[in-house]
This record gives sequence, structure tokens and C-alpha cells, in this order.
Amino acid sequence: MGINIAIDGPAGAGKSTIAKLVAKEKNFIYVDTGAMYRAIALYLIRNNVALDDSESMVKFASQAEVSIKYVDGQQQVILNGENVNGLIRTEEVSKMASVSSAVPEIRTMLLELQRKLARENDVVMDGRDIGTNILPNAQYKIFLTASAEERANRRYKELVERGEKCDYEKIKADIIERDERDSNRATAPLKQAEDAILVDSSNMTIDEVAKTIIDYCK
Ligand code: C5P
Repeated sequence: MGINIAIDGPAGAGKSTIAKLVAKEKNFIYVDTGAMYRAIALYLIRNNVALDDSESMVKFASQAEVSIKYVDGQQQVILNGENVNGLIRTEEVSKMASVSSAVPEIRTMLLELQRKLARENDVVMDGRDIGTNILPNAQYKIFLTASAEERANRRYKELVERGEKCDYEKIKADIIERDERDSNRATAPLKQAEDAILVDSSNMTIDEVAKTIIDYCK
């Protein structure tokens, strides 16, 4: 087993930003498990699967071969041989990933890929169930969170900076809806592992959060 750092937490808590900084500092690979769920979601959208049709989700997801590779140190997610990295960050994909990731068969499909990466490499892996379910023996576990208001605020600023039109209240409502779905699903719900440290980044800078986690992982 490689050295494993598991970072879980709700949408928009800053997991990927922090995980990348920690991975760079430690010279580990960064594994973004959300991107894997997003790639499956993209495949479901392309096949016109409805958000309430879990039977079709299972059927089509079984045709989706997901893997990852690294280009210049950046994770690329590959769907049936196609690099879909640039296609998985839309609101439509976010919504489908949030719904389809609750389907147990879809979680099972990705479990072995995630565990294999952690067996063979030193990893910083982020997601929702890494410390609780995927890597229960990870040497370091962090539950990174922030208030829904602060997470919505960060997302709002990011979209405004990109010149996109957006509505703060709608962003906040979406975040709360995703949190609820992730936390209340029957299979591998989002929750803090008993042996994870809790980091609330609501009133912390990115550098402060990264330092806290890097110090903990020494
Ligand atoms: O982290 P990200 O927002 O990219 O994840 C997309 C969706 O995939 C989340 O809304 C969550 O429902 C799901 N997910 C999950 N388990 C993980 C990673 C992501 O259920 N380990």
C-alpha cells in the first residue's frame, strides 16, 4: 500500500484546490474521484438517461469504461478511450453525477479503480466516502468543510470572475440539495470518518488550510 491521504467533504469546500497543493508538496499523485462520477454522468447524459431512471443508469453505466491518466501532473479522465476532462464541469453533469452516484452499482464500478490507485501509488484522494469506505486504512484522513453560505459565496465569485451570469440564492440552494443527497443516500453517504480530523475552512485562507493539512500529514 502507498501512503494514502483521504480528503472528504461537501461540494465546494475546496477539496480539490487543497488536495492539489498537498499532493504537490508531498510529491504524491492527486486522485479526483468526483471526476470519475462525472465521466459516468456524461455518458448517461449522452444516452438521454433521465434523472429518475436508475434502472437505465445501471444499464448504460455498465458500458462506460472509466480510467485516468496524468498529463503534466494533471489528472485526465478517460471515458471509453476519449479524454473528457474538458466536458465534465457543467451544471448538467454536476446534477447527473450527484444523482447517479447514489446508485450502488455505479459506486461499485469505481471502487476497485480507486483502491488500485491507492495501492500502487502515494495518493491524495478526494471525494465523499474515501476515509469511510474506499480507503478505511488511509494513514491520514481529513474532513474538509465550510458553511453552505461560504461555499456558495466562493462558487458565486468564481462564476462572476469567469464572466458567467449567476444567481447567489440558486447556487446556495443547489449546494444544499447536493449536500443532502450525498449525506442521506443509503450507500457510502458523505460523513466524517471517526478517525478523520475536521477542518472548517469557512474563515481560513487557502494557504492556512493547506498548511494545517500538510502539518497534520507529516
Ligand atoms: O467532487 P465533485 O463535485 O466533482 O463530485 C461530483 C459528484 O460525485 C458529487 O456531487 C457526489 O455526489 C459524487 N461523488 C461521490 N463520491 C465521491 C466523489 C464524488 O458520491 N467519492
